[in-house]
Amino acid sequence: MALSGLLRTGSRLGPVALLSTSRSSTRTAATLSSSSTERATLNSILIANRGEIALRVGRTAAQHGIKVTTLYTHPDSRAQHALSSPYAFNLGETSAYLDGDRIIEIAKREGCQAIHPGYGFLSENPSFARKCTEAGLVFIGPPWKAIEDMGDKSRSKEIMTAAGVPCVPGYHGSNQDPAFLENEADRIGYPVLIKAVKGGGGKGMRIVRSKAEFQDQLRSAKSEAASSFGDDHMLIEKYITTPRHIEVQIFADKHGNCVALGERDCSIQRRHQKILEESPAPQLPQATRKDLWDKARAAALAVGYEGAGTVEFIFDNDTGEFYFMEMNTRLQVEHPVTEMVTGQDLVHWQILVAQGAPLPLTQEEIEAQIATRGHAIEARIYAEDPDKGFIPDSGRLLHVRTPAETDDVRIDAGFAAGDEVSAHYDPMIAKLIVRGSDRYEALQKLRVALEGYEIAGPMTNIEFLKDICQSPDFVSGAVETGYINKHHEKLFTKSPIEDELLAQVALASMLSSSGSFLPSPVLGFSPTFQQRQFTFAAKQSSTGEDAPRYQVQIRQTGRDVFDITVNGRTFESVRSHFDVHTRLVQSFFNHTRLDTTVIQDEDTIVAFQRGRQYRLTAPRESWMDKALGVKDVANSVLAPMPCKVLRVEVQEGQEVEKDQPLVVIESMKMETVIRSPHRGTISRVVHKAGDQCKSGTPLVEFAGEENS
Ligand code: ADP
Ligand code: ADP
Ligand code: MG
Repeated sequence: MALSGLLRTGSRLGPVALLSTSRSSTRTAATLSSSSTERATLNSILIANRGEIALRVGRTAAQHGIKVTTLYTHPDSRAQHALSSPYAFNLGETSAYLDGDRIIEIAKREGCQAIHPGYGFLSENPSFARKCTEAGLVFIGPPWKAIEDMGDKSRSKEIMTAAGVPCVPGYHGSNQDPAFLENEADRIGYPVLIKAVKGGGGKGMRIVRSKAEFQDQLRSAKSEAASSFGDDHMLIEKYITTPRHIEVQIFADKHGNCVALGERDCSIQRRHQKILEESPAPQLPQATRKDLWDKARAAALAVGYEGAGTVEFIFDNDTGEFYFMEMNTRLQVEHPVTEMVTGQDLVHWQILVAQGAPLPLTQEEIEAQIATRGHAIEARIYAEDPDKGFIPDSGRLLHVRTPAETDDVRIDAGFAAGDEVSAHYDPMIAKLIVRGSDRYEALQKLRVALEGYEIAGPMTNIEFLKDICQSPDFVSGAVETGYINKHHEKLFTKSPIEDELLAQVALASMLSSSGSFLPSPVLGFSPTFQQRQFTFAAKQSSTGEDAPRYQVQIRQTGRDVFDITVNGRTFESVRSHFDVHTRLVQSFFNHTRLDTTVIQDEDTIVAFQRGRQYRLTAPRESWMDKALGVKDVANSVLAPMPCKVLRVEVQEGQEVEKDQPLVVIESMKMETVIRSPHRGTISRVVHKAGDQCKSGTPLVEFAGEENS
């Protein structure tokens, strides 16, 4: 029964003890625990996780002289966390991070004293926590019973209601009859939210706006929950139409102390999942903050909590009321935000609590820290495509450049340049966390740091994060969970690409094949400089419209000097240098130096210039575009560049297939076969062998009709 836990802790520590957690109570606990047999120093832990969280936990362990054993799977064999410790074990198949029994066996065999589960995977699995304890291992997390109570959204709400923590009005009982649930929805009033009681990660949730759609949405939520969590029990609650997600970081020790380490606003979400988190929550009255902290501590104490936990609330922007949503019984992805504003290492706190030590700070001491340390924001950098509904991307990180880390700019990454972001796991690449003396300064720092964060390879959300940081309502602190939808039009508008950028991308293409010094003048001979023409386009993923195409002509006029024409506009005597190793193009346009890093990934170009990232199709020489079958005007095939006709392979009246050779031309000492862009009949051969042709003159013409 849920209530037994509540009564037990309720009698152990009532609201009076909760509010008077003071230095003296901590001291008593410290004195007690140092003599108690409960306290043991951990000197060897196994980290049952991967990526940035495994590295994060390992960093603190190393700082405190704790030996770390790490685990990996086949796809992760070269991952940073796998390489981070000499004590690394291959679990095998992709899903093996969930194999609790194997992991416990390895921990025992290796002489580890404790297991840190990180987040996700086994972190909120009560039976794993229980098995660890039964195997004589310390589970660095709360008691398994607290995980079980809080892992069920219905049960946790019963406990919270009894502990005086407000919950969203709704039905969270055991009757799962669809007609009964529909009646409950009618009673609550639409819109309602159907939620899987075992849900997580935004899954198994459906909004129902009217009675008519209730049964359809119930069925769809149930089937998603059954496949994701193996349980299709549902609860119904009032859907708050303009909510904020505000959560409180709490910590409890084994001595009855429980503190709140401030709150985090995590309202900027896509697919019900967070992408920006900050502390303190903007524009929240001080009295409301304190009330949230108290309710969160009450929630933790109601389940006999120990260690790090997060109590999530939904805050109704319209009424100023807040309600308990769920408790996450683990360290949270966004914990660094709290570390920044409290000056504490929460992983170290977890280890201390697991060892039986009292909490390092009292509530008053924490509040004193929070009052002076300003504001922190985290941006989650994901391999995903915002333009395609934020679908995850994967692939090799071809280029990674990060902003300089300082006391106020922190990067928690799981990957380095050259690593593969696997499609098997969460697509989060890194977290960027900044701190400023106030929100304004923190936002400034975040913007600058994001501008210095370059990733090429998989598509990322970095540009999108920059756009949010510039978005006026976000800057003013008017956040809500529907922020991205509400500001959709502005956030997804693309600004035009500067001609100088296009010029440099084409230059990189030209110079990466030939180097920037070609051909160097040899004594007595004047150099023959290059003249090339490129066509490319912006990469447009979502709209399906034809992306605008760019034409760039480059004429080399000196050793490092070029005349560049972009869409008809000519930049004269642009001095440029290209470094093939760093992929940096440095050009002087009328005394303005522009530095652009140009990375090619198969047929995609990613260019970084002045804090912006651009994605383009790889420039193709215009003649190639034509030769590859671009349909020409007036049913004819045009000379793609100035050339000499070497051979004509077809006759008038002849039927040709798509891609059949038509004419062979020579240009810049290179032979090029011009192929038929489609099937058809040749009506006229315009040029014969030996003719000199200007770029754009017809070579052959087709009869009126053709079948593509
Ligand atoms: P937080 O509240 O800390 O932001 P999330 O809800 O985003 O946490 O989840 C943290 C991690 O756990 C992510 O890696 C996510 O993919 C994973 N996760 C969350 N819920 C589940 C679940 N039910 N099953 C598997 N993984 C989950
Ligand atoms: P999960 O376990 O998947 O994290 P939560 O219950 O924490 O599920 O809800 C995830 C997100 O869904 C919240 O951050 C919030 O954006 C939205 N949400 C949850 N409950 C409500 C509600 N009653 N009304 C409106 N939005 C909600
Ligand atoms: Mg949640």
